[in-house]
Amino acid sequence: MGRVAFHRSGNAQIEKRRIEDVKGELSRLETAKKEALGFLNEIYLTSLKRVGEKDSMIFQIHMMMLQDEDFLDAIKNKIEREQVNAEYAVWAVGQEFAARFAQMDSEYMRGRQADVIDISKRLIQYLDDRMAYGPAQMDEPSILAAEDLSPSETMQMDKAKLLAIITRGGSKTSHSAILSRTMGIPSVVGLENGFEELKNGVTVIVDGTSGEVIVEPDENAVADYEKQRKEYLDSQQRLRQVLTSKVVTKDGRTVAINANIGHPGDVESVLKNGADGIGLFRSEFLYMGHDALPSEEEQFQAYKHVLEKMDGKPVIVRTFDIGADKRVPYLNLPEEDNPALGYRAIRICLNRKELFWTQLRALLRASAFGNLEIMFPMIISVDELTAAKAMVEEVKSSLAAESIAVAQDIKIGIMVETPAAVMMSEELAEECDFFSVGTNDLTQYTLAVDRMNGKISKLYNPRHPAVLKMIRMAAENAHKAGIWIGICGESAADPELTEAYLEMGIDELSVAPSSVLELRDHCLNLVK
Ligand code: PEP
Ligand code: MG
Repeated sequence: MGRVAFHRSGNAQIEKRRIEDVKGELSRLETAKKEALGFLNEIYLTSLKRVGEKDSMIFQIHMMMLQDEDFLDAIKNKIEREQVNAEYAVWAVGQEFAARFAQMDSEYMRGRQADVIDISKRLIQYLDDRMAYGPAQMDEPSILAAEDLSPSETMQMDKAKLLAIITRGGSKTSHSAILSRTMGIPSVVGLENGFEELKNGVTVIVDGTSGEVIVEPDENAVADYEKQRKEYLDSQQRLRQVLTSKVVTKDGRTVAINANIGHPGDVESVLKNGADGIGLFRSEFLYMGHDALPSEEEQFQAYKHVLEKMDGKPVIVRTFDIGADKRVPYLNLPEEDNPALGYRAIRICLNRKELFWTQLRALLRASAFGNLEIMFPMIISVDELTAAKAMVEEVKSSLAAESIAVAQDIKIGIMVETPAAVMMSEELAEECDFFSVGTNDLTQYTLAVDRMNGKISKLYNPRHPAVLKMIRMAAENAHKAGIWIGICGESAADPELTEAYLEMGIDELSVAPSSVLELRDHCLNLVK
């Protein structure tokens, strides 16, 4: 529950419109200024109580700047002389002033550059919410609303200030949604009805369970949700009873309940929720939200951190699955008509070997600090697996030549996320140590339904018999070859499917850290 802060991707330029009613435009500006000042004052007073005078000063400075005659006159002049809309005038003058500040000798004045951009954004938001540009301004913990969010934008959000996320576009298995789930942030995606009612500063309740957003809730709704929240927290507390319980089926098989992570920092919630290990570390997120490739050393430190924290429990790192919606701008990969079927994951690794080499070196060096397993994404043939494994061996030899320690017997597995991998599972199982079914992609490729497209989300169904038959086939072939099989797609947490998965003999389920306890409890009830 909280106030909405709009977020718009990139630094889009503000639309310039010719206006006839200059007076009307000036009065819109005046109203927006008053509203922005009112909001800043409120934030200032709350912040004063929370963090004290010094850290709240910034809001006072912004209030002063918003009333600065030079700044306001420049905007008004622009509206009058050029007969342009107020949003554009604010944006253009904001840019001019920022450029002027940037030229100044005093460091303090140069620092005001960001503030003038900030107040321009705020004014524009009050003029027209839809024109808000750039990252959301979250002065207090807020609910972020956006048309859509890319995975790298989601990654860069200040988690401490993010109460919830609402997007008009997107789907539940898009990587932005997966990331917010991993971070434990309630989200509603694909909100077609009601998105228009959202405005900056408006109070809303986001119900991530039902997918509802309640705008300006009345007292009854607030009380009802306070109660629901308390019940939820109580149930989470009760679930802690199963923190260390192991899931063992009636026929004596242990089913590991693991967690998926996207960032080394997520390991804290993995530990808090008592996962048996990490079933999927989406390493590509180390490459996103940066301006350049992460160095071998940076990657090594990230993997080492996770391995050490997990203290001997298995950590399955998937080599980078860059491509499709996981864009890495500095790699300059070409635009594609069908990115989900395109140049991505293992296809990039086996083509841009220098990238793969660096990642494998970092991984193998880190292996000495815990229980590392390596997994390859998007495999469609035995040849790819053989080539990737050969590369691991080459890197091992080169590290041995440098006398760098590497763990013995590092298990190698593959993602089973293409129908081809399922059909070849008998042969693939002979060549690796484990399978992990990526139901997010396996569903999209088996059903030919784009996982990112909200319009066809009703067709996107991991419970479809075709998908279940695929998993069963892979499970049979895995067990025939004596290797284990897990599921790390989002459907691993679907309670409607758990029984079917256990019945197929699935050995591991890997889910968002916040789902581990609930799933463990559910499995324990099923195997009783
Ligand atoms: C999957 O495809 O199910 C999977 C786990 O990988 P990702 O969601 O990153 O594609
Ligand atoms: Mg996948």
